[in-house]
Amino acid sequence: MIIVMEENASEPQIRTVTERLIELGFDIHRSTGERYTILGAVGSRPADERDFELMEGVHEVIRVSAPYKLASRAFHPEGTRIKIRDVEIGGDNVVVMAGPCTVESKEQVETVAAEVSKLGVKVLRGGAFKPRTSPYSFQGLGEPGLKLLREAADRNGMLTISEIMESSQIPMFLKYVDILQVGARNMQNFNLLRDLAKLAKPILLKRGPAATIEETLLSAEYLMAGGNHQVIICERGIKTFETYTRNTLDISAIPVIKKLSHLPVVADPSHGTGRRDKVPPMARAAVAAGADGLLIEVHNCPEKALCDGAQSLLPEQFSRLMGQLRMIAPAIERTVD
Ligand code: PEP
Ligand code: MN
Repeated sequence: MIIVMEENASEPQIRTVTERLIELGFDIHRSTGERYTILGAVGSRPADERDFELMEGVHEVIRVSAPYKLASRAFHPEGTRIKIRDVEIGGDNVVVMAGPCTVESKEQVETVAAEVSKLGVKVLRGGAFKPRTSPYSFQGLGEPGLKLLREAADRNGMLTISEIMESSQIPMFLKYVDILQVGARNMQNFNLLRDLAKLAKPILLKRGPAATIEETLLSAEYLMAGGNHQVIICERGIKTFETYTRNTLDISAIPVIKKLSHLPVVADPSHGTGRRDKVPPMARAAVAAGADGLLIEVHNCPEKALCDGAQSLLPEQFSRLMGQLRMIAPAIERTVD
């Protein structure tokens, strides 16, 4: 943190700021120029810049280092690779995870799993506990849904990803799920993050609908500070003034997070757009922008889906998209298996 004092700051004012910084554990490097005195505060403890901005004689406070440490690229200059059986997320291969929004029945999840597996997908998605805006909407099948997801994945040699909503569900998820998804609405459920931090399981952390990139990385930091370094960040669209799409998929967040952090970044163009016809272009854009993976909703009969049918691709649309992604990836020295 750098504190620039006012031009006419008095020596007692400078001393008060310095003493406060020392009290907080910072080492101070003072430089006195012709007009300004600058205090360089070096330390590892976080401090609230606003406290200093309000002090007498302070002109400006400039934060130098990011408030997250373990999630920052400075901590781990190489990109993190997360290996789960034969799948590596964060390597050269862009990992496509696909499946229905929600597990609805054995027949539905088995059909979709077989379709996407045939196209090379190795991670099957499917929610069993759904965070629905309305309490009257379908809330998911619960544990039987997770079991169906697991069985469909096993039949096709796939991994599973599903959303966990609360800490009490952890033992159940450990039985059926390979990647635990923290949904956008729970990104700042710090108690849940602290409990997931104790697990030796990869976590896919979705960016909250109104979360900044820094807030997202601080949520990742909760998981990492508690001991779980297998964290994947997911850009799934944020709330803006635009109403045409369900959310605004922030493609630029992909290169921004890749620069700030070593964690793999996945994009979810299904929730990011909310409309089936917009999913393939945004999926292509996300891969071109450097995403390490995609999370895509696919349904065998989207018009009858119990959740998010409008944004679910039909298997033939998904097949066409996979072909396109396989052509785009080599342009940026990546592959799509
Ligand atoms: C989902 O993946 O089905 C989901 C509910 O996602 P989000 O948390 O991004 O809304
Ligand atoms: Mn969904």
